[in-house]
Amino acid sequence: LRLTRADLDALPNYVPGRSPADLARELGLPEAIKLASNEVPYGPLPGVVEAVADAAAGVHRYPDMGVVALRQALADRYGVHPDQVATGCGSVALAEHLVRATCLPGDELVYAWRSFEAYPIIAATSGAASVRVPNDAGHGHDLTAMAAAVTDRTRMILVCNPNNPTGTALRRAELDRFLDAVPDDVLVVIDEAYREFVTDPEVPDGLSYADRPNVAVLRTLSKAWGLAGLRIGFLVAQPPVAAAVRKVVTPFSTSAAAQAGALAALAQADEVQRRCALVVAERERVTEALGKLVPDVPASQANFVWLPLGDRAVEFGKACEARGVIVRPFPGDGVRVTIGTPTENDAFLAAAESALA
Ligand code: PMP
Repeated sequence: LRLTRADLDALPNYVPGRSPADLARELGLPEAIKLASNEVPYGPLPGVVEAVADAAAGVHRYPDMGVVALRQALADRYGVHPDQVATGCGSVALAEHLVRATCLPGDELVYAWRSFEAYPIIAATSGAASVRVPNDAGHGHDLTAMAAAVTDRTRMILVCNPNNPTGTALRRAELDRFLDAVPDDVLVVIDEAYREFVTDPEVPDGLSYADRPNVAVLRTLSKAWGLAGLRIGFLVAQPPVAAAVRKVVTPFSTSAAAQAGALAALAQADEVQRRCALVVAERERVTEALGKLVPDVPASQANFVWLPLGDRAVEFGKACEARGVIVRPFPGDGVRVTIGTPTENDAFLAAAESALA
């Protein structure tokens, strides 16, 4: 007897990364270091825990489904109208809602590969056909090939900038050319989960394209804003696209705690900037050190670094774990390592050095 869809068997699971507590227990260490999920290592922002605790007093009631106060705060911060904003249970949920809002079964969703591991899962579970366009030799999106992959069945294109897991970022001139080449009836979703870590001035803010009717920008509060556990992301698009997403969203999926926590976090923009600068300085230090151990490490504009280790990826991941550091191997391809505190990064670099010796 089979109750669930047969095609799910062929789908990969989303890999959340193993628990540091389990690894520490296994190795008999006081603690293990997790550099596998691109979180920022500095704890919740000031005021967030208190705001979530205050929200807890009202949890016998449903949250505001219109997310009015938070959408207004996001609109104010990013210089758009609240009608252009939709929130969701993480930006990964919003990516799924966008597919649901654009693709009928069999319609095509174009994305680069390798990119965020959730994209193929979202496409398959939504009935959209995945069209994967291989990255270029520098591990970044090949926008020329992505534009050429558009057919009359294409409804949506995902552009991950900076790209997870390779850290590469697209420049304004190439993104301009790409957006001009894509037909008006195809939605281009610019996934900017790591925007706050971008330092290259040539890498455009996706929001500068949000006045285009066929562009939607995805942002998350999970990374730079330190709210991964609350599950809150948002998108900015022209009002018809944002309204369509609010229509297909799972009711009440932006919880009261997430709304309160996000409002408190947004009041800490200066502290976020300070923390991102620390992460960026460490990113440059770690990239330089790794460049001496591994050939072809791409420059990263995110809070992680990509090691193109090919067939050695899994073995490298295991060697780091044996030394108490959890990283994220992608079998046969490479390893993504999140930037942590200086002490965590030193522990990782020591593990990497002995793993590659
Ligand atoms: N987009 C990209 C590119 C990501 O790497 C991630 C998180 N790994 C997300 C979206 C989703 O983040 P969240 O659902 O936590 O907002």
